[in-house]
Amino acid sequence: MTDKDESIRSAYRLLPAVDEVLREKTLAALTAEVGRGLLRACVQEVIDLWRTEVAAGELNSDQLATRVAAGDAAREAAALVELDRARGLVPVVNATGVVLHTGLGRAPVHPEAAAAMAQAAASFCVLEVDRFTGARNRRDDRLSELLLRLTGAEAAIAVNNNAAAVFLCLSTFAAGKQAIVSRGELVEIGGSFRVPDVMAQAGAHLVEVGTTNRTRIADYAAALGEQSGLLLKVHTSNFRLVGFTEDVEARELAELGESSGVTSAYDLGSGLIDGEGGGDGDGEDGGCASLDMLEGEPLVRAAVASGVDVVTFSGDKLLGGPQAGLIVGRRPAIEALRANAVYRALRLDKAALAGLEATLDLYLTGRGDELPAREMLLRDGPGLALAAQELAGTLRAMEGLEARVVPGQSEPGSGSAPGIYIDTSLVEVARAGLSSAALAAALRAGNPPVFARIHDDALLLDMRTLLAGDHGRLVTAFEAL
Ligand SMILES: *Cc1c(COP(=O)(O)O)cnc(C)c1O
Repeated sequence: MTDKDESIRSAYRLLPAVDEVLREKTLAALTAEVGRGLLRACVQEVIDLWRTEVAAGELNSDQLATRVAAGDAAREAAALVELDRARGLVPVVNATGVVLHTGLGRAPVHPEAAAAMAQAAASFCVLEVDRFTGARNRRDDRLSELLLRLTGAEAAIAVNNNAAAVFLCLSTFAAGKQAIVSRGELVEIGGSFRVPDVMAQAGAHLVEVGTTNRTRIADYAAALGEQSGLLLKVHTSNFRLVGFTEDVEARELAELGESSGVTSAYDLGSGLIDGEGGGDGDGEDGGCASLDMLEGEPLVRAAVASGVDVVTFSGDKLLGGPQAGLIVGRRPAIEALRANAVYRALRLDKAALAGLEATLDLYLTGRGDELPAREMLLRDGPGLALAAQELAGTLRAMEGLEARVVPGQSEPGSGSAPGIYIDTSLVEVARAGLSSAALAAALRAGNPPVFARIHDDALLLDMRTLLAGDHGRLVTAFEAL
């Protein structure tokens, strides 16, 4: 045995036992708070780490003895417990300027929707019974009615997310059959939603028509045959094809489907309710601002009016509600979706249903522009500049911080309105002796966590995506640095 082996073995003997560390008085309060299981795992992790350091020759007996005597194992385990707790789904300040940020949970729901969700989750509710007749009903009866009023569709159904909505369509109409899609629309949406892969999972055979940049209705017509199950149009929601391009309008696809007896579907991705479409369309109740800056983003009402059998869109993108996949369209097609056994595995839970009902109620009562995602997109230049000046002033007064207002651009995000940027006001912040990347990392790890943007090595805070109370939270976060 070499001297080195011997010194490693003697160091191993100094490693504390897990139970010994757990008995330390300094951990008593924490044990009571978080329970023994988590603490035991953390102590084990610390000891394992020390053992690796000993094996690598990075930690000798003397150093280890000093750590043990100082009670470092308990201290480090306690720090791991804190880290574990900070990893939960904590709220963060979104100062990135990306309104629908997939990493940060897309649309924040309206406070009334959040309250409805919390209430449904914490209590019993009339999920599948009619309280006036006592008879069983469908969980999405009311949601469907609201969707019909909002979109002009004949029927509606809701599932867990829009990927599930597209999957349900393919599984219902094209399993073992062909789904015909334009080559220019075989998109990948972030988070591994790839149209060809979803088709394969649903058992549909993909038939690609047209070319990457141009597809005509005659291309779809030529592909129709005995095996055709679905004519599918997909909104290319996260990129933009420019130049010599042509795609088929939903109306043409609907007409082709109608005349050939093949179901037609339009996956919108984001569900934009806009202008007069936001409401019953009679100009009295309902109605919301037109999000003109999202030029080219298809409207749900227009997609429905095109006559396609099925229109699918997300609940938590531009609609501004909780995560969901909403499907509206013609009654026979929607009833076929409902009859598919797969629907049972994709249906919505009561909290999401309650949140969606509250969100649609806001549109239908003319308050759609209060939805946080819409309100953020609608913020105007002077208001944003004022907010930036106020924040910059407060931050400048803090020791070691430099802050100034600079112009910049926000993004709708989450694969809606690609290539669209909206003018905004930013606060550029610098701290002496700290790189922007290090400052951004400290802000993310801080309390409350803040997500900023880095551009050209500058740390930027976008005023567009701040929620009520975030100004104060930002100040707290910088004070805590
Ligand atoms: C976002 C998107 C999806 C997926 O929707 P999720 O709600 O994220 O499941 C599907 N299709 C298109 C065109 C999209 O933009």
